[in-house]
Amino acid sequence: MKRESDTTCRRWPECVCGQHWLFYQSAPVDYFLNAEPIINAMLSCIVERCPDARVRSAATIQLLHPIFRRQQRKETANDES
Ligand SMILES: [Zn+2]
Repeated sequence: MKRESDTTCRRWPECVCGQHWLFYQSAPVDYFLNAEPIINAMLSCIVERCPDARVRSAATIQLLHPIFRRQQRKETANDES
């Protein structure tokens, strides 16, 4: 019997990041601006653990959005201080 990776999100798409993912597919742009940290965490979780390769690559592309790149730079700067 093949053991599933511990890093895979087994509850997808019923888990929190899966629910958020479905919600933000059709959410107005305003929601993205207000929920930047939530979406950033959700996308990171999906990129790392989602069992659906198609969703994983879509999340990877969305993580490259300028909003999230700005946040990542900020976190890197904090690490260095
Ligand atoms: Zn999940």
